[in-house]
Amino acid sequence: MNEQTLLELDKQHIWHPYAAINSDMPMYAVERAEGVEITLKNDRTLIDGMSSWWAALHGYNHPVLNQAAKAQLDKMSHIMFGGFTHDPAAELAQRLVRLLPDGLDKIFFADSGSVAVEVAMKMAIQYQQAKGESQRTKFASIRSGYHGDTWHAMSVCDPITGMHNLFAQRLPLQYFLPQPKTAFGEPWQEEDIQPLKSLLAEKSGEIAGLILEPVVQGAGGMYFYSPIYLQKARKLCDQYGVLLIFDEIATGFGRTGKLFATEYTNIKPDIICLGKALTGGYLTLSATITNAHIAQTICSGEAKCFMHGPTFMANPLACAIACASIDLLLASDWQHKVKQIEQQLKRELAPAAELSAVQNVRVLGAIGVIEMKESVDLKLLQPKFVEKGIWLRPFAKLIYMMPPFIIEPAQLSQLTSATLAVIKEVYGE
Ligand SMILES: *Cc1c(COP(=O)(O)O)cnc(C)c1O
Repeated sequence: MNEQTLLELDKQHIWHPYAAINSDMPMYAVERAEGVEITLKNDRTLIDGMSSWWAALHGYNHPVLNQAAKAQLDKMSHIMFGGFTHDPAAELAQRLVRLLPDGLDKIFFADSGSVAVEVAMKMAIQYQQAKGESQRTKFASIRSGYHGDTWHAMSVCDPITGMHNLFAQRLPLQYFLPQPKTAFGEPWQEEDIQPLKSLLAEKSGEIAGLILEPVVQGAGGMYFYSPIYLQKARKLCDQYGVLLIFDEIATGFGRTGKLFATEYTNIKPDIICLGKALTGGYLTLSATITNAHIAQTICSGEAKCFMHGPTFMANPLACAIACASIDLLLASDWQHKVKQIEQQLKRELAPAAELSAVQNVRVLGAIGVIEMKESVDLKLLQPKFVEKGIWLRPFAKLIYMMPPFIIEPAQLSQLTSATLAVIKEVYGE
């Protein structure tokens, strides 16, 4: 299809994320992608700074992942998971159990991150019910979080940026705590945990679970906070019978410098959600994982089972690619690579902190964030990034990058220097 026809059809018929139909926002026609380069239909190539929203760790069109997909396609692309099991699911389960903290070994495979969060929330409710605590129907979270776009996942997203107004009266009301003030790497301030302490002392009888993105808050604010908060939260959750749910959909698989952000702490959650990079960015797949005690308690409850079962559960094609992606990651020197990216991002983004329009610059693992003082104009910025040969997708006040781990130092320099050049051009020195 030629570029013009594609863009016209798209404009007439297709929704994009958080976009108006028939929108006048810039739209680019992609032809293919390979490694860290995205090629547009007009033959322009862009260096990818987004990993397709945290997912494409190994870059695009990777021969090993392609091979895994082709091999599985020749056996079966999908088979229902009710009454059947298969190698790709079992092999993926085996790998995840090996990598996750001890005891997290009961896995529910679902279709997307949002569904993994729904599943985690349903698990928490069914667990509490089975324990005779059916009045525990609410969840607690911290502000500026993001947990997905489906109904209950949305209810634990930040109440301001998370569209609560729009769906007011229709969303379950949850308890929101302030974002921990102690940033990652800063000395812990004990008063940070006080709001959670008070909430649980007062309301724990209504609360089934506390859901958090450990250490790195993603789409809700790109903020890095102290792991000590999580350790304190663990103690309080135990004290008050509240399940601790870690949403590692964005942070999983090495992005923060640890395989899972949980590893920055000495504790483990009761339930963990994985997604995004699980398949190396090839297909949609997620997993919600809990321990034997919670799984057995759920299954001793009224329903005698866990009440969820997606049509495409444990899709063999996605599971086979996920196995190959995990093997590829573990066989690579990813810790070293992420460290290198972190150091280079720190070095090359630092000058942005001197610009008058910039509020703050922060880097953790392979994540670099430039927080502006005001919300940025995507319509203005996106074409300028593309003109300079890079792909970024800022939102609100945040211009951020999380490139594929395979990015070369020269490509990363191109990404950072183009970003700084655009900020200077648009907002001045
Ligand atoms: C992206 C994301 C989700 C939602 O995942 P989808 O696959 O988009 O449904 C949930 N939680 C976190 C932390 C995420 O980054």
